[in-house]
Amino acid sequence: MADKFDVIVIGAGPGGYVAAIRAAQMGLKTACVEKWVNKEGKTVHGGTCLNVGCIPSKALLETSHKFVEARDHFAEVGIEVDEPKANIAKMLEFKNSVINKNVGGISALFKANGVTSLEGKGKVTSSTEVEVTDHDGNATTYTADNIVIAAGSVPVEIPPTPLTDDLIVTSTGALEFTEVPKRLGVIGAGVIGLELGSVWKRLGAEVTVLEAMDSFLPMVDSAIAKETQKLLKKQGLDIKLGARVTGSEVKDSEVVVKYTDGDGEQEMTFDKLIVCVGRRPYTQGVIADGVGVELDERGFIFVDDQCRTNVPNVYAIGDCVRGPMLAHKASEEGVMVADIIAGHKAEMNYDVIPSVIYTSPEVAWVGMTEQDAKTKGIEVKTGSFPFSANGRALANNAPEGMAKIIADAETDRILGMHIVSQHAGELIAQGVIAMEFGSSAEDLALTCYAHPSTSEAIHEAALAVEGHAIHMANRKKR
Ligand code: FAD
Ligand code: NAD
Repeated sequence: MADKFDVIVIGAGPGGYVAAIRAAQMGLKTACVEKWVNKEGKTVHGGTCLNVGCIPSKALLETSHKFVEARDHFAEVGIEVDEPKANIAKMLEFKNSVINKNVGGISALFKANGVTSLEGKGKVTSSTEVEVTDHDGNATTYTADNIVIAAGSVPVEIPPTPLTDDLIVTSTGALEFTEVPKRLGVIGAGVIGLELGSVWKRLGAEVTVLEAMDSFLPMVDSAIAKETQKLLKKQGLDIKLGARVTGSEVKDSEVVVKYTDGDGEQEMTFDKLIVCVGRRPYTQGVIADGVGVELDERGFIFVDDQCRTNVPNVYAIGDCVRGPMLAHKASEEGVMVADIIAGHKAEMNYDVIPSVIYTSPEVAWVGMTEQDAKTKGIEVKTGSFPFSANGRALANNAPEGMAKIIADAETDRILGMHIVSQHAGELIAQGVIAMEFGSSAEDLALTCYAHPSTSEAIHEAALAVEGHAIHMANRKKR
């Protein structure tokens, strides 16, 4: 029998690697099993997020944004440059270097914290045993007092658009296009569709997004969603709502996509097609038959609020369990579970998890929308403020968007914050902290903000809850 551990974590994505580091920091003897190998055949940590998700997509979003700034906006502020050219090979090289730095960082953190890295595929064979099959097929069984499953998720595939090697791809393939497709089809106007659609649109593709639902970004406050849709349309993203994809055919090196909308059957031809219709939990081969860990009706590992499965001392976190599929949610669950295993009291506030879509401008939100509150019968008051009235946003040549705060009508407690603006992903931290501290809109309104800063738009939105925004005409009189 091989080594015995206090904790074995299966999966080294942002859920698993954070759980392993935290457990080791708590003095627990910890191992983390990872099966992901890069193109050079080397085991890499960081999971979807670092290898094919958050980090590479943000590298391409940033470089393509800089390209658009140089091409379309430098001249507006008096910077004259020759027509810039996008060097896709160099952009991919930059993206890959960012991935390598990040994944290398996790391996270094494992060493520094004393986490044992086990390379290969992990399988829970009992409530205290994990079998690890290395890349040569050799299996070793390790024992542990506690097991944390952090196996993540994979893209959903749909029958009308079976994937091909290079024409019909998931987000992973869309991070690797070596040239700009002339006509790019995107199925799903969700987070991935809007982010990767934006990347390739900025670099010159004609992008059509086919979205089955009639509504755009239903999880975002409708005022912010409406503004976002308008801004993305202005950038040339053709978002077709109520368009359900029913079939596809690969002809030579083109993809013909069939879909139905309000006008009946339609057809469009693309040079590349990205299928991004959601992700599903990855649990295949992770738990041996007979261990008894239950899955829910959608295939997620069933857990309670503290990520305990129905089997004692077996926990599951991140994308393979209920809740939003976000890296920071996975990481916070990892911290909570490690603390619980170490004997501490720990919990997570699932009502205050921020979301960001890294388009330009960014869309960010936390908590309820005004519509959610109405559905729940909660009476609210709201305050909104446009970035076109914010001095710093004007100086940044980024006046698009607005911030909106939703507060309880009776208690004034902040229930939600929704923003579309440059750097909304940074600004939303104010809403997260305010909500974690149980702040009222008045608390933010009475806070002194640095000037000039785009954060002042949040201050003004908080003032606007009582109709007292300073830089807006529609004030209430006391
Ligand atoms: P994962 O990151 O999927 O990691 C699971 C790990 O477990 C993998 O490394 C896998 O190889 C390993 N594993 C699975 N089974 C086994 C086994 N049996 N043995 C050993 N190892 C195993 N989220 C954000 O918050 N912000 C973003 O900007 C963002 N952008 C994204 C962009 C894209 C294109 C995609 C696809 C996703 C993005 N996400 C983003 C979502 C984010 O990547 C996930 O929510 C996050 O990675 C989930 O973390 P996790 O640890 O649960 O799973
Ligand atoms: P998503 O759930 O965000 O969006 C999928 C969209 O596809 C939905 O709007 C859905 O209505 C649509 N759809 C489903 N079937 C369809 C069909 N047959 N035809 C047309 N449209 C269809 O999923 P995603 O964009 O694939 O992202 C997956 C996950 O990754 C998300 O849960 C997200 O949280 C995470 N992610 C997060 C970020 C971020 O935080 N910035 C970035 C990328 C991905």
